[in-house]
Amino acid sequence: MVCEPGNTRSVFVKIPADLSCTGEERWKHAQIDSCIADIVEALQQGGVDMRSSCCGHGKTFGNIQLQDGRVLLILIPELGNTCIYKGRGDNMLKQLFGQIIALLVAVMLATTILSALVGLFRAGVG
Ligand SMILES: [Zn+2]
Repeated sequence: MVCEPGNTRSVFVKIPADLSCTGEERWKHAQIDSCIADIVEALQQGGVDMRSSCCGHGKTFGNIQLQDGRVLLILIPELGNTCIYKGRGDNMLKQLFGQIIALLVAVMLATTILSALVGLFRAGVG
């Protein structure tokens, strides 16, 4: 699913002027990580300007940096590097449980203090 570093395929891509050795926008055959070369090629042929790409080689997210500053992430479920949204959901659940537990502790403390006060009051009256 993911290629080794150096396992590349030549794709004809547009190089932005600020990344070009000539200082001008130009097209060239660049070596793209082979496992994402088809995606890069399709984007390029579809007129999406890019600055860089890396498949992540199984160590991190694959990504394609677009010329406008946005970044496309390439997530592979089998590698367990997909679940940024699931992770966010897990954190929300943890926070929710934390709040529920804090609430329960507060209620238990209040009940204990209240019953102790009632006990003192009764002892005083009796
Ligand atoms: Zn790769």
